[in-house]
Amino acid sequence: MAELCPCGTQTAYAQCCGPLHRGRLVADTPTALMRSRYCAYVRKKVDYLIATLDPAHDDRTLPEAELRAHLRESCRTVRLMGLSVLDAMTHGDTGEVLFHAKRFVSGQNRSFLERSIFRLRAEGWRYRDGELYLASTVPSGITLLSFREHFAGVG
Ligand SMILES: [Zn+2]
Repeated sequence: MAELCPCGTQTAYAQCCGPLHRGRLVADTPTALMRSRYCAYVRKKVDYLIATLDPAHDDRTLPEAELRAHLRESCRTVRLMGLSVLDAMTHGDTGEVLFHAKRFVSGQNRSFLERSIFRLRAEGWRYRDGELYLASTVPSGITLLSFREHFAGVG
């Protein structure tokens, strides 16, 4: 039986994020890019994580070797156990995705919600920035709109 894609679409990896990771396809929506990046953490595709990082992302200020080491360490230590997309919207060349990721760090449940921002570049969608909160601090049934209201002024 084909291995289901870790990103939670219930389709085979070879038909889901696999072709994106191999550079055969380009993510056509911010949600598809987010899923493929989540999946890249699970499958330790550091090159893909770097390639899909927006040129203006803060981590781009790191020397590439340092960025690579940092991502490799994240892939190694963080166990991602499941992804749920809660909300998504696109306006022009900007996309927003709100998702819940089930995560364990050193055996502790550190599941989180993230509001990710994506930019459409000539090469495709790129991860620009993200706001992340522990899932236990976020009310259930949250949307992009209520997320913004709930966390206005936080952080
Ligand atoms: Zn996938």
